[in-house]
Amino acid sequence: MGRLSIGPEGASHDPDEGYRTCSECGGDCIPEPSGADGMGIRIMWVCPQHGIHSVVDPFAHLREQDRLDREREYGE
Ligand SMILES: [Zn+2]
Repeated sequence: MGRLSIGPEGASHDPDEGYRTCSECGGDCIPEPSGADGMGIRIMWVCPQHGIHSVVDPFAHLREQDRLDREREYGE
């Protein structure tokens, strides 16, 4: 799974990562933001021929940090 980096200029992706390449045809996929599941934003990589082939959660590490913070606060 690849990684998105969030910087001062917005979200960017590392072109060396494989998540944007379709595993079936090797073609470049189109990133489509999705926030429909209520768990925050996801980036779906959609191949024009083969459909969605990977979903990236650019904020997973932030939620994990948030969870750890909450555990520390209320956990004991
Ligand atoms: Zn494809």
